Amino acid sequence: MSYRNEAVIYVDMDHVLCDYEEAWTRQKNLFPDLEFPQSQPGMYIGMNPLPGAIEAYRWLDDHPKTDVYILTAPSVHNSHCYSEKRDWVEKHLGLSVVENLIITPHKNLNKGDYLIDDMASGKGQDRFEGMLILFGSDQFSDWASVRTFFEETLNLGGSPPKAGPWDAFFNSEAGVTDDFGLDQDDRDWLDMKPVGNEKLD
Ligand SMILES: [Mg+2]
Repeated sequence: MSYRNEAVIYVDMDHVLCDYEEAWTRQKNLFPDLEFPQSQPGMYIGMNPLPGAIEAYRWLDDHPKTDVYILTAPSVHNSHCYSEKRDWVEKHLGLSVVENLIITPHKNLNKGDYLIDDMASGKGQDRFEGMLILFGSDQFSDWASVRTFFEETLNLGGSPPKAGPWDAFFNSEAGVTDDFGLDQDDRDWLDMKPVGNEKLD
């Protein structure tokens, strides 16, 4: 546990929050002659969330016993990757989570208790000081099993956590202006991108 008595949890993006395979196939169809179609713009922002990923992230993030960050390695050959990962997080999780987005090829340098990742090595996962939750393994085959683990291990189950900003954010109607405990950045973001209206102009 961290010094703040909250579990510091890192969550990977590709193959954990994001459906990399589906987006890669789409890119390959668009650019069939390219060996690395993921190098073209649209790959990373175009990934769909994996089933249950957004709901599980919100649940972990809202919980008072956790401190949650996204920890993702970039494709260093591809500058689009950096900005599109950032935009993906804003699009699917909101600006407040962008504040907790860490893009690094050296995951071991981040201190914490848990790392949810589909790779056991390659970007420092094997030297991470906390516990590796190997997403896609027999024990953690999907987000439901990861959530069960945290409910049991951190005793996060039972009564629901206090209503966090996410509850208000996702349950609110477009244009709502009540103070739900969102910080100013979140309120600005809501004004720019009303809930339920994807139209950008
Ligand atoms: Mg990954």
